Amino acid sequence: MLTLDFHPTGRHFLQIPGPSPVPDRILRAMSLPTIDHRGPEFGALGLKVLAGVQKIFQTRHPVVIFPASGTGAWEAALCNVLSVGDHVLMYETGHFAALWNKMATRLGIKAEFLGLPGIEGWRRGVQADMIEERLKADTQHSIKAVCVVHNETSTGVTSNIAAVRKAIDAAKHPALLMVDTISGLASADYRHDDWGVDVSISGSQKGLMLPPGISFNAVSPKAVEASRKATLPKSFWAWDEMIEMNKTGFFPYTPNTNLLYGLAEACDMLLAPEHGGLPAVFARHERWGEGVRAAVRGWGLEIQCADASVYSPVLTGVMMPEGVDADAIRKLIYDRFDCSLGMGLGKVKGRMFRIGHLGDCNDLTLMAALAGCEMGMKLSGVKLAGSGVAAAMDYFAGHPARVPLQKAA
Ligand SMILES: *Cc1c(COP(=O)(O)O)cnc(C)c1O
Repeated sequence: MLTLDFHPTGRHFLQIPGPSPVPDRILRAMSLPTIDHRGPEFGALGLKVLAGVQKIFQTRHPVVIFPASGTGAWEAALCNVLSVGDHVLMYETGHFAALWNKMATRLGIKAEFLGLPGIEGWRRGVQADMIEERLKADTQHSIKAVCVVHNETSTGVTSNIAAVRKAIDAAKHPALLMVDTISGLASADYRHDDWGVDVSISGSQKGLMLPPGISFNAVSPKAVEASRKATLPKSFWAWDEMIEMNKTGFFPYTPNTNLLYGLAEACDMLLAPEHGGLPAVFARHERWGEGVRAAVRGWGLEIQCADASVYSPVLTGVMMPEGVDADAIRKLIYDRFDCSLGMGLGKVKGRMFRIGHLGDCNDLTLMAALAGCEMGMKLSGVKLAGSGVAAAMDYFAGHPARVPLQKAA
């Protein structure tokens, strides 16, 4: 029996960029009894969470909720709007973009993968001009969709989605815009409607502060229209019955009732006007990102994201000096200080680690995580230029949060 409810050394530091720590208030909400998913109470819960997630995606259009991890919602997005052999343009920002590309290929889609060569593309955001150029060359309009990752969780880069929309419009191309904001949503600013996104994909265990297990497709009218003609096989993932039944708050098959209790609570927390709503959420994570990057600079190490205009407010990738095994350092920090950090994935395996600053965190939990990193690197013999912890303390102390933490009495 795992006894994680009592840790003799206090709570584990879950500093990976998802799953993120689940606030007690959400855990408590999820502990309510499971109800009849065809009964009247359920309909009210369904309507509440569907309206809440629309606000979080910043959309007036339907958001479909699947009982699945983010990967399921990736598949749902592709198989609802595409047909076998369709050509899509995907952009390589990192490991998650590569996994989505692999999935598209496995589904029988002709998935072209655009990007900067080598590791360079993994240190920068989506290059919208490359997309514009490629679409302009597609005079036959054979490309059916452009697929990009908003917040690339493997690197710590948050791409400019509005610029991608502009590129598609500048090329006068009818392709759908599909965006993975699995880790961006609810920590980084995300605007499904304003940015003209056709399908936005997200998951529960990142910015929404829930356990893993539900995921989302926000869908534009153009995407719904495309789904009526698309022929890739779809049944569990099909939007049509979901959208129809969701009008009354119900689902065509058993939804994840207790996670929806948690989602209702998460929406209340994120949207609470007395705490400043979404703008305050985004400002908090921007500021935490700044503090963590101050630490990395204090250590004299490199931030994986090489373009300051696309630094992620969700996580920071920390590059290790040549010859240092980042995974050995992560293991030491886990063993000695009970803190989980994200590993380097794919092309950067063993070369970097990732510090999450998404979801439920604060200045002091981040300071503790940074202290764990600094101790771990020192114990591993990494040559540091100075104290990143001191640099982050200076940043946080010198830059008070824009919205005060405590409501005035
Ligand atoms: C976490 C994540 C995924 C995968 O989601 P799962 O819930 O693990 O299936 C995909 N894309 C991005 C950007 C992610 O952060």
